[in-house]
Amino acid sequence: MLSVHTSPLHQPGTGDAGGMNVYIVELSKRLAELGTEVEIFTRATASELPPTVELAPGVLVRHVTAGPYEGLIKEDLPAQLCAFTHSVLRTEAGHRPGHYDVVHSHYWLSGQVGWLAADRWGVPLVHTMHTMAKVKNASLATGDKPEPAARIIGESQVVEAAHRLIANTDEEAEQLASYYGARLDQLAVVHPGVNLEVFRPATASPTGPVGDAVSDPRATGESVREIRARLGLPLDAVVLLFAGRIQPLKAPDVLVRAVAHLLDEAPELRERLVVPIVGGPSGSGMARPEALHKLAAQLGVCDVVRFQPPVGQEQLADWYRAATALVMPSYSESFGLVALEAQACGTPVVAAAVGGLPVAVRDGETGFLVSGHDPASWARVLRRFVDNPELGARMGAAAARHASAFGWEAAARATADVYADTIERARFTTGQVTVATAR
Ligand code: UDP
Repeated sequence: MLSVHTSPLHQPGTGDAGGMNVYIVELSKRLAELGTEVEIFTRATASELPPTVELAPGVLVRHVTAGPYEGLIKEDLPAQLCAFTHSVLRTEAGHRPGHYDVVHSHYWLSGQVGWLAADRWGVPLVHTMHTMAKVKNASLATGDKPEPAARIIGESQVVEAAHRLIANTDEEAEQLASYYGARLDQLAVVHPGVNLEVFRPATASPTGPVGDAVSDPRATGESVREIRARLGLPLDAVVLLFAGRIQPLKAPDVLVRAVAHLLDEAPELRERLVVPIVGGPSGSGMARPEALHKLAAQLGVCDVVRFQPPVGQEQLADWYRAATALVMPSYSESFGLVALEAQACGTPVVAAAVGGLPVAVRDGETGFLVSGHDPASWARVLRRFVDNPELGARMGAAAARHASAFGWEAAARATADVYADTIERARFTTGQVTVATAR
C-alpha cells in the first residue's frame, strides 16, 4: 500500500490525518488477519522515525525519506514524488522479484507513485481516491479554495493507469466514471467499515432518561451517566456533537449557526445545551484556525460550544456515546466514517445528504438527512431531539443495529476479492505477462 502524504501512525482528526488513515489501518489489519501481508509506504515526517514499524502482525509501515521531514505541506508533495518512488523501487529491489503481488495506492499522490511501481514490477495497480478534486470543487463551501488543476490532471492520469478503482459507494463509482472517464470494468464498490470492538453502545440511551438500559448485545457495560460524568457533561444535557477535521468542507460553522437559531427560539435550552467540537484544523481551515471560535463568539454561543483537541478512537467512542446526536453538515464526503462510528455507539446522526452519507445514515430511521446548509433548517431538525427525547433513544438503537452490518472484516474480504480478481485478470493481458517475464 502507498500512503504518501499521511501516515497510518498519525492521530486522525486534524491536519492531513482523517478517515483515510483509519481506513488504511483497519483494512490492513483485517487483510493481514485474512492472510494477506501488507506493507505500507509513507513519507517520513520526523528524523527520529525508525525505517520500519510493525503496526500489527502482518502489517509493516515503511518510512520513506522524500524531502525534508518538516515544513512541507501536502501541496508541496508533487515535487517529492520522484524521491518517494525512488525509495519504493529501491526497497523492492532488495527483495527477490515478485515480492509484491499488487500495489494499492491511496489518494492521487500515491496513485502517481503506484502507477510507476506497478508498471515496473509487472503487477496490477488498485487505487482508492478517498476524495476527488472535481467532486470537491463542484460543491465548495462559500469562499473555500478550489482544488488546483494539477491535482485534476494527476487524478485523471491515475484513473487511466489503474487496473481497478475501489469506490466507497455506487455514487463515488458513478463520479469516477462521469468526471474522470473511468471504465465500468475498472470499478469496484467496497463500503468502508467501522471497528465494532471499539465503537460500541453504552448500556444507557443518551437521550432517554439517563440510566435506561439498552438491550444491545455489544453494549460496553458502562452507562451514559458514568461516561458523561467522566467527560464533564451535565447528565440531563442535550449534547450535539461534531467530530472531525475543522475545515470549511465539513461545515462545523453550520452547526454553530444552527445552535444560535435553536437558542433564539428556545432560550431556556441554554442551561442544558452542550456542543462539543472534537478535532483540529485542517485543509483550507488551517489558514484561519481561530475562525470557528470567532464565529461562536459573534453569535453569542461560546458558553455552549466546547472545543476539544483530537482524541484517540477509544476516547472518541466515549464522546459518541455521550452525545444526543452527531451532526455532520459537510458539503462533500466520500463516505464519512464518523457517521458509522457514532451509529455503532448507538447515537443517531444528522447529516447532509451528500456523498456517502445517504448510505451511512438511514433517513428517518437512524438519523436524519438534511438537504442544503441553511442553519434554520438544521436547527429545525435538531430541535426534534430536544422536543422528543424518545426519538433519540429509538433512532440510537436502530443506528447501532444498522452500523453493526459494516464491520471492517467484510470490507477486507471484499478488497481481497478485488485484489485476487485483478491479479487473475492481469495474468491474461499480454502486456502484464510480457513485463512479468522480462523481470
Ligand atoms: N477521528 C479521531 N479523533 C478525532 C476526530 C476524528 O480519531 O478527534 C477519526 C474518526 O474516528 C474517523 C476519522 O477521524 O475515523 C474521520 O473520518 P471521516 O471519514 O469522517 O472524515 P475524513 O477525515 O476522511 O474527511
